[in-house]
Amino acid sequence: MRGLDIIYSDNYLKYDLGADNPISRTKTGEFFRQIKAQSKISFKIHEAPRATDEDILLAHTPGYLKEVKWSAVNRIDLDPDTPVDENTLEGSYYLIGGTILCLNMALQDRKVVNIIGGMHHSGSSRGAGFCVFNDHAIAIRKLQSLNLIKTATVIDLDVHAGNGTQEIFYRDPSVLTISIHQDPRTQYPGTGFEWETGAEAGVGANVNITLPPGTREEAYLNALDTAIQRLKKFSADINVLVLGVDTFKEDGLGNFLLEEGTYFKIGQKLKSVDKLAVLFGGGYHRKIPDLWMRFLEGYLS
Ligand SMILES: [Zn+2]
Repeated sequence: MRGLDIIYSDNYLKYDLGADNPISRTKTGEFFRQIKAQSKISFKIHEAPRATDEDILLAHTPGYLKEVKWSAVNRIDLDPDTPVDENTLEGSYYLIGGTILCLNMALQDRKVVNIIGGMHHSGSSRGAGFCVFNDHAIAIRKLQSLNLIKTATVIDLDVHAGNGTQEIFYRDPSVLTISIHQDPRTQYPGTGFEWETGAEAGVGANVNITLPPGTREEAYLNALDTAIQRLKKFSADINVLVLGVDTFKEDGLGNFLLEEGTYFKIGQKLKSVDKLAVLFGGGYHRKIPDLWMRFLEGYLS
């Protein structure tokens, strides 16, 4: 097996949203316990750096950054699911810094994962669904601004549509966004339909693949094959995987029925994608660390 680079910082835990959320001491602690207890995957942990306001402004409006800072000080929720205070705001800067580092390392052909990222509900001027800033949109813009890449693909496997990422890149032909998610008529955020394919120069660079509640492994993996074909055809300079595990059958929010073993198969399929930055995203159940491990076992097999 190839070695894995893991990006992490204890500062991430400032973004702790509770035990059922991936961003919690319990979940990250259990993940590190499991990966240290096995011998198949060799890994190295890298400290996530702190991002800057300038980084954030590459994908968000100055007005929104100001609103978030004001809301953090005054403890005003950005939306009912998205509380923000000075602690979570500080954690956000490290999550973003970690994702920027993750993309930079993937660009050097490393197998790399940021253990928290993929804040895909955050749009250019709004926070939503536990997401304050869109870390992967910021990281893509940062690498573009440094001329390290021209094009990027985001492949989003969270059960919820990546609506914030879609919004940020909707008119941009340089970033292909692909999201496989539960039919938005039956699931938050209520958008992400297949007819939403991009606008202006970006027409064709937004792909939504929707599946009904109750979707099981076979149909899911078929959709993933389609998504990977699209990704390979676009052949971007970098690829970003938003790996929500709220597609699991025991998830508290999602209504798909994937098995624990499905995540091994997802990992195996994504093994063939070059320059892939992996971000561990959403999931609302106690098995999150186990599913992350199954994915990595398949991905590095
Ligand atoms: Zn989700």
